[in-house]
Amino acid sequence: MHYLDHNATSPLRPECLSAVTHALAVGGNPSSIHANGRAARAIVDQAREQVAALAGAKGNVVIFTSGATESNNLALFGAVEGSLEGEASRVTRIFVSAIEHSSLLATAGRLAERFPWVRVSHLPVTAHGVIDLEALRVALREGKGRALVAVMAANNETGTVQPIAQVSKLVREAGALLLVDAVPAAGKIKLDFSLCDYMTLSAHKIGGPQGAGALLVREEVPLAPQLTGGGQQKGLRAGTENLSGIAGFGAAAHALEDGEGERDRILYLRDHFEAALQAAAPETVFFGSEVERLCSTSAFAIPGLTAETALIGLDLDGVMMSSGSTCSSGKVSVSHVLTAMGVEDKLAACALRASFGWSSSMNDVTAAVESLLKLRERAPKNQLSEVAA
Ligand code: PMP
Repeated sequence: MHYLDHNATSPLRPECLSAVTHALAVGGNPSSIHANGRAARAIVDQAREQVAALAGAKGNVVIFTSGATESNNLALFGAVEGSLEGEASRVTRIFVSAIEHSSLLATAGRLAERFPWVRVSHLPVTAHGVIDLEALRVALREGKGRALVAVMAANNETGTVQPIAQVSKLVREAGALLLVDAVPAAGKIKLDFSLCDYMTLSAHKIGGPQGAGALLVREEVPLAPQLTGGGQQKGLRAGTENLSGIAGFGAAAHALEDGEGERDRILYLRDHFEAALQAAAPETVFFGSEVERLCSTSAFAIPGLTAETALIGLDLDGVMMSSGSTCSSGKVSVSHVLTAMGVEDKLAACALRASFGWSSSMNDVTAAVESLLKLRERAPKNQLSEVAA
């Protein structure tokens, strides 16, 4: 089996499995005062520091959640609701980059239903998939009330890295708030929480378990809890903490602390994959390859070989990839990210994503390239020229 779908979910790292099973054995409710509770609390506190360190932050900014989807929901709804107290600082405008994950786009869309005074707009990206800074500058100048801007650190489908330092500067100058979805970027590029107000992370994209995520929040910014109850996590996210998930998340973050060797290896594999494909199939289009990209990601299309056909063929050869974002697959639809980059539907219908991670090997690369070339040979030739035209 050749697993090249780390951006969908990365297999559990062995050290995370140990941390998860250890936490399950410890058990205990982190809110209990007795010894067992204190042992559980120590696990949570350690993981808090480890996860925060991914973004150069301290543990006190971390709120553990059930995953990045919840984190994005909490940040958007929490920021708007939390800003209601002071009229002057009410969040009235939300600017979301057009290439955000659906957990941000769909949630932003829902905000206006609950808070009718909030206007949500999408920010365009360039043909390379990078946020249009001029459009952001103009957008921030328009309208009244406080704005909240959501721009991901890097895109999950193409890997294109976003200029967060420049975005942050514009956002700060406008007195606005910045939410950065750092899910695919975590552990791949240096993250700097001090540039933003809210940051989203997910355990299962870095080799931790599914169902564990975090929202990093600066103390001074608005955040109303969306889950209320027992007052856990400073009352910002009630519910007994997912001890084993959090322990696994911490272990994954810790594994990435000295992640340079791993990143170099992943980059080598990704580049080798692209070079081999390009050499044998020169018509292949690599999306976002002209700008800075995450080492983990290759989004590409072989014109004429549709993603639907390719995924089935690859799967038969034991190669696991994805077409665009997995969260939207099951239905094979054109990626909103590629559409935002101006890629034509016909080419976008051929878009595949190979994503590499800690368990990837050169064997996986070879198998993937061989399978793709075989499928390319079988693709209808008339379709090939039609798409390439
Ligand atoms: N944001 C991005 C950029 C993602 O890629 C994903 C997962 N596909 C999410 C958020 C949601 O993460 P989770 O699966 O932890 O809910």
